[in-house]
Amino acid sequence: MEKVVIIGAGCAGLTAAVYTARAGLQPLVVTGPQPGGLLTTTTTVENYPGFPDGIGGYELMERMQKQAERFGARIRLGTVESADLSARPFALVVDGERIETEAVIVASGASHRRLGLESEAKLENKGVSYCATCDGALPVFRNKPLVVVGGGDSACEEALYLTRFASAVHLVHRRDQLRASKIMAERVLSNPKIVPVWNCVVTEILDVAQGRVTGVRLRNVKTGAESVLECAGVFIAIGHVPNTGVFRSQLEMDDAGYIITRNGVRTNVPGVFAAGDCVDKVYRQAVTAAGMGCAAAIEAERYLTGMGK
Ligand SMILES: Cc1cc2nc3c(=O)[nH]c(=O)nc-3n(C[C@H](O)[C@H](O)[C@H](O)COP(=O)(O)OP(=O)(O)OC[C@H]3O[C@@H](n4cnc5c(N)ncnc54)[C@H](O)[C@@H]3O)c2cc1C
Repeated sequence: MEKVVIIGAGCAGLTAAVYTARAGLQPLVVTGPQPGGLLTTTTTVENYPGFPDGIGGYELMERMQKQAERFGARIRLGTVESADLSARPFALVVDGERIETEAVIVASGASHRRLGLESEAKLENKGVSYCATCDGALPVFRNKPLVVVGGGDSACEEALYLTRFASAVHLVHRRDQLRASKIMAERVLSNPKIVPVWNCVVTEILDVAQGRVTGVRLRNVKTGAESVLECAGVFIAIGHVPNTGVFRSQLEMDDAGYIITRNGVRTNVPGVFAAGDCVDKVYRQAVTAAGMGCAAAIEAERYLTGMGK
């Protein structure tokens, strides 16, 4: 019987592990398919406090894991395939094995919705990004034309943010008007640096042979016409998919699948806490995920103390 199982080993999960381990709860951290979480897919993280020269995403997560292990956290490679949160102890199935636990911290993150292009996958981190706040300030994008794909609030925010660095931001949208809120759409359309590219989809990101982004190939969905738009970076903002499918119908979620929390990090099931990008569709940053992981750990500890565990 575990006291607390942490589902996910990204910033939220590993921070929760540091705190619960220091509290003597010997947490079991189930890593899922991506040990270290999303940050392991990026190069330099420049906005995590405490690293004035930046730190590699992989190294930062390796350090967080070591810090948690130092206090007694156990890391288990495996994926939670199903969960029964209807009775106590809670039961999780990890790669076919049943694990019982008094408390659960869900920190399973969210995946970016991708265009699904082969060139997109090959150029990820080589000019293709899913996070302007994270990558927009990198030297490779400075004073260069950039492309943002999408037409919702996120795409508009990304485009506006990128105007600080880019020479121009081309906002490629498959419709002839933005889906974003009125105020956001107005801001974007009145910004002289943002050039909307209507009725177009990206069919290829160039140039895989060079190993960096030099442009995008576009197809006009109305006329079928093809064109190439030169740019140094492509920011894809077509939404996120929270990794919460295994908790559907047990944890309260919004329509998009984000876990709804109350009083911070508590879910609708007492003893189950949620933290990081599986909850947060607004900030989606390493430091906010870590902060929520800390809060979830403190709440879990209080819950277990209250139960006399
Ligand atoms: C390319 C890129 C660059 C970024 N750069 C920055 C940056 O510079 N600064 C910044 O602050 N933020 C950055 N971010 C955002 C940051 O990575 C996320 O906000 C942060 O990782 C969220 O942490 P998390 O722990 O909530 O989720 P994640 O890091 O996504 O971790 C989720 C964890 O849950 C696990 N998991 C999923 N499903 C299951 C399951 N069924 N069972 C068990 N485990 C499961 C995964 O394997 C993973 O370990 C970047 C993101 C990307 C993609």
